[in-house]
Amino acid sequence: MRKPGKRETGNGTRRPLPVSAADEAGIGAALAQARLAAASDEVPVGAVVVRRENPIARGHNETVARGDPTAHAELLAIQQALKTLGADRLDDCTLYVTLEPCAQCAGAIVLAKVARLVFGAYDPKAGMAGSVGDLLRHPKLNHRVEVIGGVEAEACGELLRDYFRAKRAE
Ligand SMILES: [Zn+2]
Repeated sequence: MRKPGKRETGNGTRRPLPVSAADEAGIGAALAQARLAAASDEVPVGAVVVRRENPIARGHNETVARGDPTAHAELLAIQQALKTLGADRLDDCTLYVTLEPCAQCAGAIVLAKVARLVFGAYDPKAGMAGSVGDLLRHPKLNHRVEVIGGVEAEACGELLRDYFRAKRAE
């Protein structure tokens, strides 16, 4: 079991770090998005992009509604943030997402040069911020992202467990 609020260093060592109030609030906002997803019968993952303490974009999974398996919360939030800013990079932004990003979304985080990623639950099956692999701090990639994982991991994971439990019961 990983403990919450640890800065990931990407080399196997993890230094404990107190989670800031701003990061707690950011994950809280992402959780609100995840609950919206659950309410529309989407896999409950939510994301928020924050720039200088202001939320500038929000998203939740819309893979069912859009019939698009790539419509993940953090990808939609990144796209919206870029559009809102009229910019091609988010190098002064923090992305909050309730679940560790997959390969696609980790790729988008690198391409959009997101400065920081704070995520909730780890995803041992698909997470590319340390679980399955690590695209965000790949030694050969130009852009490295500051990553903090496991913030409010229990609440973020519980939403997902409830969703899949209900699906299996259908
Ligand atoms: Zn993804």
